[in-house]
Amino acid sequence: MTREARLFVVSGPSGVGKGTLVARVRARLSCLGLTVSATTRPPRVGEIDGSSYYFMDDAAFERRVQAGEFLEWAWVHGHRYGTLKREADRLIAQGRSVILEIDVQGGLSVRRAHPDAVLVFIEPPSMAELERRLRGRGTEDEASVSRRLADARKEMELARSYDVRIVNDDLERAATELAHVIETYETNGGPS
Ligand code: 5GP
Repeated sequence: MTREARLFVVSGPSGVGKGTLVARVRARLSCLGLTVSATTRPPRVGEIDGSSYYFMDDAAFERRVQAGEFLEWAWVHGHRYGTLKREADRLIAQGRSVILEIDVQGGLSVRRAHPDAVLVFIEPPSMAELERRLRGRGTEDEASVSRRLADARKEMELARSYDVRIVNDDLERAATELAHVIETYETNGGPS
């Protein structure tokens, strides 16, 4: 069976468990590449520059915007985040499918530039569960939790035009579903 390398966008509210889910799927589908984003958000404890994100100040980010180096970028929770074109190009040149773990505004920009990109939205089982997960993570102060919950409602509304929605109620089940979506698009061009 032939496989075609594709661009997959995975979005979902902060705290929904996208990062863990994507890591689980990459462990199953070893050929999948993941881009490292640039951000003006300060690093959290344990985050590594060049691996978690490329951390940069506003001036450095703006220079790259002006130089046309971003495939997409957006303001998210009060900071700028973006995917550098060279990050995606490097993986695509290797014939690998690429996952962009980015917000919905970024996902919709990617679709404008690459209409064949597949947009996947990860949903929480409920808003109450999302709030519980965000607080349980312990990385955000109260103002940031409130902001992320308000942004989550907006993201769910904006994501209506996404191609696929997956509820992250159980990590293994959701990972199986996401891996299946990726394989289906790579082999058949999408659900038939
Ligand atoms: P965090 O600050 O928790 O690491 O990420 C916050 C949000 O930024 C995530 O929900 C993620 O979707 C979004 N994000 C991360 N990287 C990018 C990117 O390169 N572009 C866009 N548009 N959003 C991103």
